[in-house]
Amino acid sequence: MSKKDRQKVLVVDDAAINRQVLGDLLKTDHSVILAKNGEQALALATQHVPDLILLDVVMPEVSGYEVLNRLKSDPRTAAIAVIFITGLDTPEDEAHGLTLGASDYITKPFNLAVVLARVRCHLQLARQRRMLETLANIDSLTELANRRHFDERYALEWGRAMRDRQPLSVAILDIDFFKNYNDQAGHAMGDRVLQAVASVLTNGMNRATDLVARFGGEEFALLMPGTGAEPASQLAERLREATGRLAMRRLDSTEADRITVSLGGATLRLSGNESAAELLKAADDHLYRAKNEGRNRVVWREDSVKADEL
Ligand code: GH3
Ligand code: MG
Ligand code: MG
Repeated sequence: MSKKDRQKVLVVDDAAINRQVLGDLLKTDHSVILAKNGEQALALATQHVPDLILLDVVMPEVSGYEVLNRLKSDPRTAAIAVIFITGLDTPEDEAHGLTLGASDYITKPFNLAVVLARVRCHLQLARQRRMLETLANIDSLTELANRRHFDERYALEWGRAMRDRQPLSVAILDIDFFKNYNDQAGHAMGDRVLQAVASVLTNGMNRATDLVARFGGEEFALLMPGTGAEPASQLAERLREATGRLAMRRLDSTEADRITVSLGGATLRLSGNESAAELLKAADDHLYRAKNEGRNRVVWREDSVKADEL
């Protein structure tokens, strides 16, 4: 297994000998991170977001119970599986630990083969959960974020923009006369166009916080946090031009097909008490204007451009 594919395990124990034994046991197949107390465990968990945490319960200052509590209450670490590994060995202790949200419970003295088997089992589950999460958020044809993922990110970014009084721009792009194109070129070519448009959009949006999503059949949504109306509408214009340059060749033809797209956009007003749904609706209304005014163009809500200049 390459280093990159290795799953990360955080081992938390105040006794150096336990850290060493567990670390040696796991390091052959996994990346091991060691923490000697609760505070250090929490800091390393947020920094590395491991796949699994082996957590001692009885430690001075911050106990394992409290570490688990704090992990669960932070969205960055809430999904990490935790196995308690502890000297508290009554059934009541075990039930308590599991009730708190631990995935498993191992008592000391521990058996190395059992620890290893349980760690593997939970890492396998973590891998599957991650894969499902990815699949649930991706559109399989274009490999872009899907509508569900867009909705989630959009709600998050809208909340952030309102709170921090930061600009937020959103645009919807729709391929022009795509039904005709599908009818003439065939659905398979239509699918290839969707993939090509997706890759133009992905390449054209450079900021790490930007998001391109497949919004519906032949519609794409662009989310630009921290971007005002001026730069966002300019970017939309560049993306329109770039999709216009796509030349799609059918197998049975020497001429390349050209497609055009229309975009409607809006930027959150600075006076800002517009709901997330209203902002998106404004972008959609402007897409319809772009269609009505002749297609192959960008229409941005003009008062959001003015707000940007203030
Ligand atoms: P307009 O310029 O007004 O947008 O016209 P249009 O023909 O693009 O609009 P309309 O919404 O009527 O047609 C959308 C078409 O997109 C319908 C369908 O044939 C096509 N489409 C939607 N999803 C897919 C897909 O996954 N693959 C393919 N190949 N075509 C799709
Ligand atoms: Mg269309
Ligand atoms: Mg459409």
